[in-house]
Amino acid sequence: MKKITIYDTTLRDGAQGEGINFSLSAKIRIARCLDEFGIDYIEGGFAASNPKDMAFFDEMKTVRLKHAKLAAFGSTRRARLTAAKDPGLAAILRTGAPVATIFGKSWLLHVEKVLKTTAEENLKMIADSVRFLKKHGKEVIYDAEHFFDGYLDNPEYALRTLQAAADAGADALVPCDTNGGRLTSEVARITAEVRARFPGAALGIHTHNDSDLAAANSLAAVEAGATMVQGTINGYGERTGNANLCSIIPSLALKMGAQMACGARLGNLRSVSLLVDEIADQRPPKNRPFVGESAFAHKAGMHVDAVSKVSRSFEHVDPAAVGNERRILMSELSGASNVRLKTGEMGLVFQKNSPAVKDILQKLENMEKNGYQFESTEASFKLLVQKVLKKHVPFFDLQGFSVVVQKKDGTSKATTTATIKVSVKGQTELTAGEGDGPVDALNSALRKVLRRFYPAIDSVVLEDYHVRILNPESATQATTRVLIESSDGRERWGTVGVSENIIEASWEALVDSVEYKLFLDEHRRRSSKK
Ligand SMILES: [Zn+2]
Repeated sequence: MKKITIYDTTLRDGAQGEGINFSLSAKIRIARCLDEFGIDYIEGGFAASNPKDMAFFDEMKTVRLKHAKLAAFGSTRRARLTAAKDPGLAAILRTGAPVATIFGKSWLLHVEKVLKTTAEENLKMIADSVRFLKKHGKEVIYDAEHFFDGYLDNPEYALRTLQAAADAGADALVPCDTNGGRLTSEVARITAEVRARFPGAALGIHTHNDSDLAAANSLAAVEAGATMVQGTINGYGERTGNANLCSIIPSLALKMGAQMACGARLGNLRSVSLLVDEIADQRPPKNRPFVGESAFAHKAGMHVDAVSKVSRSFEHVDPAAVGNERRILMSELSGASNVRLKTGEMGLVFQKNSPAVKDILQKLENMEKNGYQFESTEASFKLLVQKVLKKHVPFFDLQGFSVVVQKKDGTSKATTTATIKVSVKGQTELTAGEGDGPVDALNSALRKVLRRFYPAIDSVVLEDYHVRILNPESATQATTRVLIESSDGRERWGTVGVSENIIEASWEALVDSVEYKLFLDEHRRRSSKK
């Protein structure tokens, strides 16, 4: 088994992604989470570049990491300065981090045109800086910036930069595909050539995803001899991002037999990914490999049928291995087996040719024709099943509602009031609620009434609200589809409403959300009694 170390740079390279902004406390939380997960190195920030990064290193002096080593990032000394007088290197020492990761130039284009120095001075800058940090007792990781581009331009010079770092005592040499433009075959070949030239050195790989190849290039480098992989959680990073550790780690563990400290906690991968998204205030894309909500979601009827018989017929790994789960999506593409699997989750067992299954499919098809969508709205689907089976008992009946949006003059804020009349358990109630908009106002009025009869309603939070106009070619009669995501702290669920009127569509999704909560609680009560 090949031993691989994982080097995370979410807090430094990842923080350079558009829309990513970590507060100090967010950085600490992420560092703890990565340590818990078994990441070997956590790069905390660019020592010299900003005070927030320095504050992080100061704070980390009081945090005890169980496994991970903290790394401070910086560049080689400047041209025409000694290492001892270089402010960047001094900042690295001030962080107190046991590991120093410094980057230097491998590509003559950058040496001559960007740094405006000479090829020889660049080699001295690398050697001096590594030697200086080693003299101060640091573990030194040398990141060779633009290595692959530089190697293709002038292989001998690129190798001399690595030689300079190695001779000065660097503990690891890490060729970087900084611009993210290299093909997998190039990374594989060049890494093998570097491996042959430095047989005893610890070699790493650092890639960016500009060609959508960062994960592939990292894995190819490992096959060619690299033993350290640098990347970020969820692939955060500048432009199109860094190599995504959430894709690389499971491939290394499950397909390449690599041994990693985090391998033992692979089942936590999805929760690490989600937690970092939450801290970074990012919406997780559903189609993320391994950890995304759709990573193991099956829709086509034939696939669902096959996967229910032999899971590996349509799943490349076991979803549970990475902390994910299989999902069966309901749509007109799905056949009777999807419906039977889905209703099975509700405790309803139907025979293969059951007329009830046909009725449910029929209803599903009709509703989808009218603009409904049940893939992400399982709650509405489950209520629909109850209705088709005539098992649905409404928790309340709407007698009517009105919504008034008022703006008193051009500068004041618009206010919204909703009045609803509903009957609950034989009593008719009339209540008004206020909100930021019509849906918010309706939601608050409905809760006010229901809270008295069903106090559990208070735990429901509307997490998300999407509106989609469905047939814009006939703009006057466009249908509106509203998707609402709700949560009660234990579970999340999606509901759908469709109408030509946005308020009516919203109301429908809102009612499903509330009814599903009550349905769910009943279901929970019944299963706890069993
Ligand atoms: Zn980078």
